[in-house]
Amino acid sequence: MSRHVLVMTELRSGTLRQVSYEALTAARKLAEGGDIIAAVFGRDLPDVTAELQRYGANNVLYVDHEQLKDYATDAYLEAWTYVIEEKNPSVILAPYTAIGKDVSPRVASRLGIGLISDCTDVELLNGRIVFTRPIYAGKAFVKKTFREESRVFATLRPNNISAEEASDARAATVDKVSVDISPKSLRTVVEDIVQKTSSGVDLSEARIVVAGGRGVKSAEGFNVLQELADVLGGAVGASRGACDAGYCDYALQIGQTGKVVTPDLYIACGISGAIQHLAGMSNSKVIVAINKDPEANIFKVADYGIVGDLFEVVPKLTEAFKKT
Ligand code: FAD
Repeated sequence: MSRHVLVMTELRSGTLRQVSYEALTAARKLAEGGDIIAAVFGRDLPDVTAELQRYGANNVLYVDHEQLKDYATDAYLEAWTYVIEEKNPSVILAPYTAIGKDVSPRVASRLGIGLISDCTDVELLNGRIVFTRPIYAGKAFVKKTFREESRVFATLRPNNISAEEASDARAATVDKVSVDISPKSLRTVVEDIVQKTSSGVDLSEARIVVAGGRGVKSAEGFNVLQELADVLGGAVGASRGACDAGYCDYALQIGQTGKVVTPDLYIACGISGAIQHLAGMSNSKVIVAINKDPEANIFKVADYGIVGDLFEVVPKLTEAFKKT
């Protein structure tokens, strides 16, 4: 049974985020010959048709509007709802990013459809669409289906579905969608954005994360972790303990009340491994823990453990990686 699948893509600084390709890869599993429609939202949009087509989209929608220049809940709610109503897809896939988390439930509520959020996998089992998502802060996974498959809506956790180009990519048609976003419908508008400085690697999509905890002991201590992250092309993250202590910004917090990351490599430095921290990183593919305390809980989830002082171990790792 073929299905029309609509994928909400996401741009950051004019470039498609990796999760957009992951969602298209997931869409290909479900479409079974149906259309794969990729919707791009923003202002003065770049031409990304070729990339989207390579990953399986055969219809690209450009939704270009002044009010979509920066993310604002009401404007995106209008735009997403409009596109769904226009295209009437049977499956909608969106990223479980800050934007996807914010707008998807609102769209689902407005359209009166169900939503399965934060999915780590999607598959077809006996002709039914089955989503996998974590429960109990990542301690277990549950498989979920929709009772009615007339309209299925799910958000996908970044870095879980491996993005693969389509071997049978079809030519993509391009549509420019004109959506009416009345200023009256916008309860909030973005006036200005003050950019925080960052290392340039997006923490939630980083393939390598070097994270520090209270054991790093100071903001300056985090320079040691940043050096290792820079050599590895990764991003720096932190436990809430480190954020609460003022060593780093809360934007770096990983865990139940912070970001959820699933990198290929997670290096935990001076982090005890509280359950709330594990909720944000335990699905990383390889976990390395560096801790002075051999009894630290983090070693229970680590693939490799180094018992030692992070200020001795981390610089040695940095030097060793510089040579490779
Ligand atoms: P600690 O537990 O103090 O651990 C520091 C570790 O560093 C110790 O294991 C110590 O042996 C080691 N160490 C010290 N010096 C060195 C050294 N020189 N070299 C090597 N190792 C060293 N926490 C999160 O991280 N993320 C969340 O999202 C989160 N959400 C929460 C939500 C709720 C509702 C609650 C109640 C708590 C939450 N927490 C969260 C807090 C969590 O319970 C822990 O308090 C926190 O994760 C501890 O941070 P930590 O591991 O950095 O510090």
